[in-house]
Amino acid sequence: MPLTPALLPRLIEAVANAIASNAEEVTALDQAIGDGDHVINLQRGLNALMAQREELSQLDWVTAWQKMGMILMSTIGGASGSLFGTLFVTMSKAARDQSINQQTFAMIFKAGVESVKQRGKADAGEKTMLDVLIPVADYLQTAIAVSLPELLETVPKVAIAGMESTRDMLATKGRASYLEERSLGHIDAGARTSQLMICAIVAVLAE
Ligand code: ADP
Ligand code: MG
Repeated sequence: MPLTPALLPRLIEAVANAIASNAEEVTALDQAIGDGDHVINLQRGLNALMAQREELSQLDWVTAWQKMGMILMSTIGGASGSLFGTLFVTMSKAARDQSINQQTFAMIFKAGVESVKQRGKADAGEKTMLDVLIPVADYLQTAIAVSLPELLETVPKVAIAGMESTRDMLATKGRASYLEERSLGHIDAGARTSQLMICAIVAVLAE
């Protein structure tokens, strides 16, 4: 199966379904230590991608990721809108003049995650989506020689471990940081949705 944007409709549908199926749980997470709007924000973005999925599938990756980033930035809102948007816009820039394979994708995703760190002025260990994105990016960097089936088996485990690690972290960025010690014991909503989206993408790629 070639890794082309022709896959985008299936990927976007899988991601939207994963978020819809876990919407109540994620809303409860964001209600516990945020303001409860994370799923609604994200679904505005995913609905916009759903509406554009056939057009997106006709583009090359550079153009598709740029467009997806702009759509997400302008529709999601909240703290997460500019962060998810930046991820894709930067992936688009990093993908210029590259053919997409396991090795180049690791570099492209890493560049995207670096831009999220810069935009959010945040790093690993601060109880955010970065606690999923950074370990996955790091794993992809180390796994350029790993077989694709093994990679697709490992990425969800890395994402889930990252998501679960946020439970015992003290939030130092975003709304949850206002709660200080009271943020302990709750999984971060953005870490959970990032993990759900990554697992949904991997499940499609593994088919
Ligand atoms: P808001 O916090 O503005 O209501 P959302 O609810 O859509 O926005 O998104 C909240 C999520 O965004 C958090 O769960 C966290 O994962 C992520 N987040 C918030 N601030 C930052 C930041 N500075 N860096 C990285 N991620 C962040
Ligand atoms: Mg919120």
